[in-house]
Amino acid sequence: MDNNKRYSPSRKQIAEYWIGKYISNDFKIIDFYEEGAELVITDPGEPECLACGMFNEKIYDNPNYDRLLNTENCMRIWNFPEVRYLQKAHIKSKMLGGENIPSNYFLLCKECHQESPDFADERYFYAYIRYVRKNKYKIMARRDRRIMQAIYEMAYQMNKNILTIDKGFDQFPFAVKKMGLHITNFSLYTYAAGIVYGMDELDLKQLSKEDYEKMKSEFSKYDISIDDF
Ligand SMILES: [Zn+2]
Repeated sequence: MDNNKRYSPSRKQIAEYWIGKYISNDFKIIDFYEEGAELVITDPGEPECLACGMFNEKIYDNPNYDRLLNTENCMRIWNFPEVRYLQKAHIKSKMLGGENIPSNYFLLCKECHQESPDFADERYFYAYIRYVRKNKYKIMARRDRRIMQAIYEMAYQMNKNILTIDKGFDQFPFAVKKMGLHITNFSLYTYAAGIVYGMDELDLKQLSKEDYEKMKSEFSKYDISIDDF
């Protein structure tokens, strides 16, 4: 009993619990389809954030993926390292009396987990899940904007030139080794600090006019002005 309380179930155990379950229109969990109900797990072979649908395509490169898919051991995929980005989110937190059992966990990406409600009435959690699913585009844009804003603010504070954020984040030198975990993940401003610190590694003079314009339009998408810099 005590062990049960201390250790959280695996991702596989959590996913297994949710297979075949639906969130109803009025935010209850049911194990049959009714009008407007949504499956919690749409594809057991493709683990994704159960709210926004974030998916890690690297899972296809795992040598065991094809071997397990479409077998009775298929659910072991959910324990792959490529699925660790999905956090075990309490539906009802410990503080509110929630238990460490699969039915009290959802698998969410970092952002969805951070934003999800810890509320005594579980319907609010399921309402959040349905809301994110329905408004995915809007929510992604809001998150992007918040990250850009944090980078901008951090750059300003550190007297760094924001213009060096060009070409998107993919090629950006990211100071990961200097970034510490805040509870279990990078906080918003840790992320911003990592990017702003990485700016030092870019040569400002090499920024072409084309890159400048690209970057400028990237920021204007989020309604952030770069003209002050
Ligand atoms: Zn998500």
